[in-house]
Amino acid sequence: MAYIPGFFMIEPSAEQSKHRAAGLFVRKEKKFDVDIFREQLKEIRLETRRNSAALIEQLKKTLAECDGIETTSAKDAKEAASLIKAFAGDREIASINKSNVVINEIRPELHRVGLKTYLRYYGEFKNFEGDKFQKKIEDYWSLPNIHDKHLVESFDIKRRIPITSPSESKDYIAILGVNAISAEDGSVYFLQHMSNISKDIEQAYKVVVVLSIEKILKNSIDAVNHTRAMGIFGLESILLDLIPHDVEKFDFDSLPLVKNEKAKEIMFIIYDNGRSDLLNTPYQDLFLCIDCRACARQCPVGQHIPFEKDMVYSPKNYLLGSLQGWLHPFEFCLHCGRCEVECPVNIDIPSLIWRSQFEYYERHPRGLKKRLLDDPELLAKLGCLSAPISNWSVKNPFVKLLTEIFVGINRDANLPTFHRETFRDWFKGAKNV
Ligand code: SF4
Ligand code: SF4
Repeated sequence: MAYIPGFFMIEPSAEQSKHRAAGLFVRKEKKFDVDIFREQLKEIRLETRRNSAALIEQLKKTLAECDGIETTSAKDAKEAASLIKAFAGDREIASINKSNVVINEIRPELHRVGLKTYLRYYGEFKNFEGDKFQKKIEDYWSLPNIHDKHLVESFDIKRRIPITSPSESKDYIAILGVNAISAEDGSVYFLQHMSNISKDIEQAYKVVVVLSIEKILKNSIDAVNHTRAMGIFGLESILLDLIPHDVEKFDFDSLPLVKNEKAKEIMFIIYDNGRSDLLNTPYQDLFLCIDCRACARQCPVGQHIPFEKDMVYSPKNYLLGSLQGWLHPFEFCLHCGRCEVECPVNIDIPSLIWRSQFEYYERHPRGLKKRLLDDPELLAKLGCLSAPISNWSVKNPFVKLLTEIFVGINRDANLPTFHRETFRDWFKGAKNV
């Protein structure tokens, strides 16, 4: 029998936390244990990775039984964009949510097929803009360490959005990357901190739900826990989004409402873009990722990488982008390891970044600049042999400018002072004093 899948919003919820706090106090319930939750999450993700192909097939069967849902598959971003364009008809305005899949991967192709995309999310941050607020969060290390304060358990299902009854709509299309979907019953889960996603599901004339294949979980219990984990482990990384971004906004709220006689049209796209190729390769752990962006909160280089400002940055997204071929290898990585420490499913991102770099340069020649910067030992030897001329030149503004243009070292960087005397010679001399 045909039925309608549920669309659920999982949101920060003080209400539920208060109940649990009361339960701890009155009924002596056990405290939420973040380490146990992390282990459960790993199990859920391993299961998803092991059974990915079967889960995709199961979901297709489930969705085929659903009323008013069109389900398609896209092997890459280009195919997804042309499906969306055909579905949108003559509509040009699209609202997108802050998802890696939609923003980083599909959006450039949407622009190529003539759709204008806007992040409604940033429009909702307008009250946070201002120098004072920006100053507080521009430094990653000033984020408040929420886990240390045990503020971890505050994400719950707040509401179910009705989708197929006739309603009032606005004349735009919403393209939403999903956080999790249950293969068993097709229920869809979004993590929402503001109200942009639920507004889009309620108001958009047509809705596209992009299901990247690692977001297909066995059942609704796993899907809820996966989505809650995104909120719990990624809570601090959202604070990074509050930094005012120079993004084009569109006032969806001021679009007029029009009576929609028919049920809302919904299209699900099962989206791969190279993900299934990663299974059974050394990169298969990327399939465990829940996109919480806890690794982004810890990464010291993320804020300084020159890509589009509203790209959804995380070390994992950058690595995946380089494996998919739309980004260069992650040259900016310092291999500090902070992302791995923070990752709730223990993905060894730094090693995978190394591997992807090696593999890339096995296939592509390294230019002179890259070879020089890859060999600090050689640079140090040349600097020492030519001291004090080398010391004069690294402080000379004109040479600094040339070094920035041709070698890529920022002119404001403090370079080391070179010495002709080796450490061994210095040590021998120091012993003889
Ligand atoms: S290892 Fe690289 S990607 Fe990870 S936190 Fe450090 S700089 Fe960022
Ligand atoms: S790789 Fe990053 S985004 Fe993915 S689960 Fe780990 S911390 Fe979260």
